[in-house]
Amino acid sequence: MNNIFVYCEIEDGKVADVSLELLTKGRVLADTLGCELEALAIGSKLDGIEKELAQYGADTIHIADAECLSPYRTLPHAAIICGIFKEEQPQIALFGASPVGRDLGPRVSSALHSGLTADCTSLEIGPHTDNKSGKVYENLLYQIRPAFGGNIIATIINPDCRPQMATVREGVMKKEVAKTPGKGVVKKVDHKKYTSDADFVVRIIEREMEERKINIKGAPVIIAGGYGMGCKENFALLHELAEVLGGEVGASRAAVDAGMADHARQIGQTGVTVRPKLYIACGISGQIQHTAGMDGSSMIISINTDPEAPINKIADYAIMGDVMEVVPKMIKYYKQN
Ligand code: FAD
Repeated sequence: MNNIFVYCEIEDGKVADVSLELLTKGRVLADTLGCELEALAIGSKLDGIEKELAQYGADTIHIADAECLSPYRTLPHAAIICGIFKEEQPQIALFGASPVGRDLGPRVSSALHSGLTADCTSLEIGPHTDNKSGKVYENLLYQIRPAFGGNIIATIINPDCRPQMATVREGVMKKEVAKTPGKGVVKKVDHKKYTSDADFVVRIIEREMEERKINIKGAPVIIAGGYGMGCKENFALLHELAEVLGGEVGASRAAVDAGMADHARQIGQTGVTVRPKLYIACGISGQIQHTAGMDGSSMIISINTDPEAPINKIADYAIMGDVMEVVPKMIKYYKQN
């Protein structure tokens, strides 16, 4: 009772990365609060899934496994989650801010009258004192996200409604196997207990998945170009370097807005969040809205003509120079070695 629940989304038969990221964070929150971490997975052919979820820290794993529960449909999934939450009374419930999580989270929170903070970039536990009543709350979920067009970072709390609910952006939290695995107790869920025929009235006749042609999220190396690249044609150099290093090309918003790169490559607050092993920022100044999406990279190299560029403050190595001179030298060097 009063545990932390993570909705574990199933993508092509596998647990989605964002759900494993949330379990990793959920484990830390549960240890801080002294409660347990529970995972909830809904789908079909979920045999063996519990092992992975326990490795990421889940103490209890609720599994609703039936042919009719895959592919994802809003009504039955929401009905199962609401039913389980009513019984288990979680204090915190987390969803990925993926298309599925963005569909489910608000529906569940509305049905439970609990409220939800969408698109969080961080979650912490902290106290709060109500100014009017003087009531003290020891451990609330701080739901942290950019607000007012990204100009401030807001911390949102929900003192009185339970569960405290949030969707969390993909990639902002680390995905790490727990040092001590969770207890991994499996609770099989009979979906019929919570759903009715009406929940299945929407039938999926055809499912067309647009393949993500550009997928920078999981790339181990990212060569990112900014406005300093000058023009779209110069991005060809970045693609060449990325190919040599086995990586992908990313971009700043200024570069995307100037038509130098596709929006799917945009990194930052309004783009994707990445954590590659190596991030090479080429002609990028390093404004906070950009660094918010890449400062978790293991190693950052910046190439910039301006020694005062803010990106240099977070870079492990800063190369002062013109991208059009430095990048070709790097390509030549890595091709030879
Ligand atoms: P600039 O700031 O113009 O920097 C260009 C850099 O290139 C400079 O440092 C310059 O010294 C260097 N340079 C120029 N020529 C060369 C050369 N030949 N060789 C080497 N270096 C050179 N930005 C994002 O990136 N991602 C986001 O998701 C994002 N979201 C935003 C959301 C909001 C609400 C707002 C208000 C802004 C957002 N921005 C975002 C924009 C952000 O504030 C910056 O404007 C943007 O990141 C700047 O991009 P840049 O560094 O490529 O361009």
